Amino acid sequence: MVKGWRNLVLLLAFFAAFTGLVYAGSIYLASCGCGYKSEKLFVGRGRAVKKDNRPVLCRRCQQVRTADMLQKPVKCNACGSTKVASYEDDSRLYKKTGDREEIFLGQDHFLCPRCRKFNLRFNLTGKWD
Ligand SMILES: [Zn+2]
Ligand SMILES: [Zn+2]
Repeated sequence: MVKGWRNLVLLLAFFAAFTGLVYAGSIYLASCGCGYKSEKLFVGRGRAVKKDNRPVLCRRCQQVRTADMLQKPVKCNACGSTKVASYEDDSRLYKKTGDREEIFLGQDHFLCPRCRKFNLRFNLTGKWD
């Protein structure tokens, strides 16, 4: 019984931390050894706006862009094209560096839209809300 309560408290603490993470938006810059640099990518969601911006490869822009995953169909935030692939969901766009289940921006290696090598890195540069 006591053990059960402790687990519940841990679970609640974890949940609080997790929602904190989900609701904070992060600003990333993607860059590659070939010289490619993305514009500032506003990933996640602001507190005021109901959005879930994720980094995508836009085939019309040929750039790393963001798209709001809560809108269907998913469209490039820059040009409105639906020819976008999510860097975190499309296994053709990343190379995992560990044996984790999930993809982590900032840790894994991603496909560069310019040189087409898995040298693209996402660097966290700030927060937005
Ligand atoms: Zn686009
Ligand atoms: Zn490159």
